[in-house]
Amino acid sequence: MPMAKSVSPVNFDGFQPYLQTLAAEAGLSLSVRQAQQMEVYAHALAETNRKFNLTAMDQLEDIAALHILDSVLALDDLATEVEDLQPRTRPLSLADLGTGGGLPGIPIKVMWPDIALTLVDGSQKKVRFLTEVLETLGLSHARALQGRAEDLAHWRTHREQYDLVAIRGLARFPTLLEYAVPWLQTGGLLLAYKGPGFPAELQDARQALRLLRARVERVIPVHIPGRSVIRFVVTVRKLDVTPRRYPRPQGLPRKDPL
Ligand code: SAH
Repeated sequence: MPMAKSVSPVNFDGFQPYLQTLAAEAGLSLSVRQAQQMEVYAHALAETNRKFNLTAMDQLEDIAALHILDSVLALDDLATEVEDLQPRTRPLSLADLGTGGGLPGIPIKVMWPDIALTLVDGSQKKVRFLTEVLETLGLSHARALQGRAEDLAHWRTHREQYDLVAIRGLARFPTLLEYAVPWLQTGGLLLAYKGPGFPAELQDARQALRLLRARVERVIPVHIPGRSVIRFVVTVRKLDVTPRRYPRPQGLPRKDPL
């Protein structure tokens, strides 16, 4: 009879030192509490990956480097812009659209615990996972909503409401601009997490930026220690109220980008 397969191939013992070392190499320091929360989150992602495919990776080292650090390495660089957005009377709000397993929103919330976080995904089973994980991590001012970014963008409760929107891995640049910009308040900032193909995508987005009344401000390169892949966090400023017709319905932002 074949031996039963180990159900827990991943060793969690060294996660925090591993994450701390990588973060320090990139010039980022995490408090003990932040490192603990990242570990609990990584554990939940890895466990759930075995049940259904939340992310493509389930090795803890990859989760630490390519998911968690990728989500937070540019944050120190953004501190000044984000402070300028800080409203006086309420917490800074951030919506993460097409968040999947909670990326980049959950690691951002761990680093910036005072923000009000809204995670959005089209998949109900992912939203169930997210709701559970937010509770496990003890994160307040954080919620997970099921829906399509282009539909919820027309709701009064979301349209023109957020100081920040973050998007990673949802769509090409012109498409994600049409999904995201309507959620922002005028003056608000989109953080688009992009891979090495970004410079070409930018060429295709001139028209979308003009129609959506937005401007690319910075392209911040992100180097993950020990990994050769180059990543970018692109900041996009919303300059004026978005015309009502955007995002367009029936899958048009994806099928026929601006
Ligand atoms: N941001 C995550 C997941 C990227 S995969 C990460 O970087 O790992 C894209 C996710 O977006 C999937 O979970 C999918 O369910 C969701 N999605 C795709 N189209 C969407 C849409 N129009 N509105 C909301 N969520 C969407």
